[in-house]
Amino acid sequence: MSERIVIVGAGHGAGIAATSLREHGYAGEIVVVGEEAYRPYQRPPLSKNFLAGQMAVEQLQLKPEKFYQERSVAFRLNARVERIDRSARAVHLSDGSSLTYTMLLLATGSRPRRLSVPGADLAGVHYLRTISDVEGIKADMAPGKRLVVVGGGYIGLEAAAVAVKAGLSVTVLEAAPRILARVSGPQTSTFFTEEHQRQGVEIRCNAAVHALEGTGRVEAVTTNTGSVPADFVIAGVGIEPVCELAAAAGLSCDNGVVVDDHARTEDEFIYAAGDCTNHPNALLGCRLRLESVQNAVDQSRVAAANMCGKPTSYSELPWFWSNQFDLRLQIAGLSQGHDTAVLRGDPAVRNFSVMYLKDGRLIAADTVGSPKDHLAFRKLIVAGGVIDAGKFADPATPLA
Ligand code: FAD
Repeated sequence: MSERIVIVGAGHGAGIAATSLREHGYAGEIVVVGEEAYRPYQRPPLSKNFLAGQMAVEQLQLKPEKFYQERSVAFRLNARVERIDRSARAVHLSDGSSLTYTMLLLATGSRPRRLSVPGADLAGVHYLRTISDVEGIKADMAPGKRLVVVGGGYIGLEAAAVAVKAGLSVTVLEAAPRILARVSGPQTSTFFTEEHQRQGVEIRCNAAVHALEGTGRVEAVTTNTGSVPADFVIAGVGIEPVCELAAAAGLSCDNGVVVDDHARTEDEFIYAAGDCTNHPNALLGCRLRLESVQNAVDQSRVAAANMCGKPTSYSELPWFWSNQFDLRLQIAGLSQGHDTAVLRGDPAVRNFSVMYLKDGRLIAADTVGSPKDHLAFRKLIVAGGVIDAGKFADPATPLA
């Protein structure tokens, strides 16, 4: 059999991996199988500029078609891998065909968690993961319409910001006591709550959704604190890794496809990268699953290097961003488990950071309005020493 790497999923990680394989000198066939109709594209603009109508579909693409043609990367789009036959080293596709592989990369990403309340299947209830999801949302968006966003995380808040700017009446329902609770501390949550309220978004916390009401189409969202009328709903209540293909093939899955620091599963011919993985991170000293472009890009590069016989370990610092209105929130590291939070700068002038420490060491920082500080925090966290946070609280003290 001639050499062939099959990549399952044609998302962000797949696009990076295919390119990296060629950069590392892989000369065999590369076939990317994706169930969506598109070559790899960026998802972050889906809840930002693309939802706002400021970006065309073509601008979402990671690379133009010609780029992949020049590198002999073949795509099988609108095709789903249904089954992996590990003993025959073959994948079976939804169109009835199959492909043998010398190595396989699983880049199957994640999918939105569905609402599991009565009425969740009514028309007008949207999720936000793909281009076609956004096309469905845009068809319901018009000035004066009432949008209820379920979930005050990044995606719900980004969509709320775009919608209120477009003249819709927007209510965000969050079950936790504050928005962004999963990713940030109270100071950052308060800042974004106030900004959304100032821009006209109604934010209701401690609001658990009990049901969606309507005849055929959603008309209201019922919570423990009352009912909110809705012309349509966007649910952003988290995502789950797509790992049933790996699980059915007998590969270990535990909140993601289990891989080692080389992005390899327990099958030496099968690797996995991106949102779908549960991976170790030596820098953080734990296993984790991430939902970010940084992870999809960096881990896919590591997988490609290892698949080309160049042993490479993955242990990058996670970082994220979110655009809401004209603000960019940049997060370095993971703040879970911090014992101290120290403010640097002034939220009132929309230029500040919240530094999160554990045992005197900086483990994470949220930054608004200062990309330079965000980059410096990334270096400080990786350096890992005990810092004098009191000194850094003064924005006049350079972080470098
Ligand atoms: P994906 O990009 O999800 O790609 C996986 C692909 O595999 C999908 O197309 C899926 O359909 C396909 N697939 C799955 N199973 C099969 C199968 N069996 N056969 C064929 N195809 C299959 N991250 C940030 O860092 N910053 C942001 O601001 C940010 N904003 C975001 C906004 C939105 C609206 C969304 C949805 C995500 C955002 N993210 C952001 C997250 C980021 O886009 C993801 O972490 C990244 O796309 C993960 O890449 P991936 O390749 O692992 O998976």
